[in-house]
Amino acid sequence: MTQRSISILGATGSIGSSTLDLIRRNRDKWRVVALTAHSRVDELASLAREFDAELAVISDEKRLPDLRDALSGSNVEIACGAAALCDAAARPADMVVAAIVGCAGLAPTMAAIEQGTTIALANKEALVSAGDILMSSVAENGATLLPTDSEHNAIFQCLAGNSSREVRSITLTASGGPFRSWSSEQLNAATREQALKHPNWDMGAKITVDSATMMNKGLEFIEAHHLFPVGLDRLRIIVHPQSVVHSMVEYRDGSTLAQLGPSDMRVPIASCLAWPQRMDTPCDRLDLAQIGSLTFEAPDEVRFPATRLAREAVEAGGAAPAILNAANEVAVEAFLADRIRFTEIAALVAQALSAAMPPPPTTLAEVLAIDRDARRRASDILERV
Ligand code: NAD
Ligand code: MG
Repeated sequence: MTQRSISILGATGSIGSSTLDLIRRNRDKWRVVALTAHSRVDELASLAREFDAELAVISDEKRLPDLRDALSGSNVEIACGAAALCDAAARPADMVVAAIVGCAGLAPTMAAIEQGTTIALANKEALVSAGDILMSSVAENGATLLPTDSEHNAIFQCLAGNSSREVRSITLTASGGPFRSWSSEQLNAATREQALKHPNWDMGAKITVDSATMMNKGLEFIEAHHLFPVGLDRLRIIVHPQSVVHSMVEYRDGSTLAQLGPSDMRVPIASCLAWPQRMDTPCDRLDLAQIGSLTFEAPDEVRFPATRLAREAVEAGGAAPAILNAANEVAVEAFLADRIRFTEIAALVAQALSAAMPPPPTTLAEVLAIDRDARRRASDILERV
């Protein structure tokens, strides 16, 4: 493989660290262009030095002087703020890893798409809020979107070489999270610490809470709808507590292809980094005899209404998915700050979606305005409870 250049948006997060772990093991194959982070200056600076990055961007503007100190004497260019994030994403690179959490990653992801490069997309919230707009921009700019989310990466692998016309259904698997077998009463009393203990995956705080509410699977349902447009009626969700089967594609002849692997995000990330080839990873090998049995069950949308809310939002289309996402981000933050109960997360999202809908957005600026308004309204609702 000839050396390729790469930028990582959200370099200090869980996905960013896993990506850099793989690059660290293959230093000669990659040249690092830009690394970005929100506020962790020291980590960003030490990564920029270690990987000899061209550019380091901190989005929190107040931290620029600290970044300057931390990188003094190095050749790394520095910048700060939201516009600088987009500049970093637009800087020519063979691959951009979009691993910022939340709608904050939308504009930088769009900037990466507009340079027509290959994007390893982990930032699912961007696709949820602005899926139609992002996907048309991918087509217009000849960009390549490689799904990094484990389920979508599995589907991408299972679809390889087949036309989506041959697909009868696509099934996303869900671990069910830490509260899979909890009663409604128990869910009401679920704490932040309990929600942050995912049984199978080690991830950032926001997605870990999303996994506990099952909103993660709701967001992934919308993500799958944009990445693999086979029709909403062909998309399914099944609970699979072992997280070994990462998703499945059923073809019209009755064949179902599944992708299996350890619960380690370095597997789907490696599949993006090496695509269309393969690379070695240090991940545990799958030992099915040791695992013994794989089980599957239907999701329970009474205890976990989030997947229903997401399906209704994507069916409604227009502004609804962006509002669902914005309200969820506000609610998860409030839950993590011990301001609301676990079950109030989905309740807040439902309430946000029941307000009058703005007209369907057609530009990125309109999506961002809908996102801002929905956040303000969700925060107002929180003030009242
Ligand atoms: P994380 O919280 O560990 O890291 C988030 C990164 O984004 C950090 O580098 C942080 O500095 C940056 N960031 C946070 N807020 C920002 C802001 N307002 N502006 C700019 N940058 C900001 O999150 P993560 O778990 O790595 O998840 C990243 C994305 O990948 C999410 O969209 C998540 O849903 C998706 N994803 C994560 C996993 C996983 O295993 N962690 C799996 C599948 C998908
Ligand atoms: Mg996933």
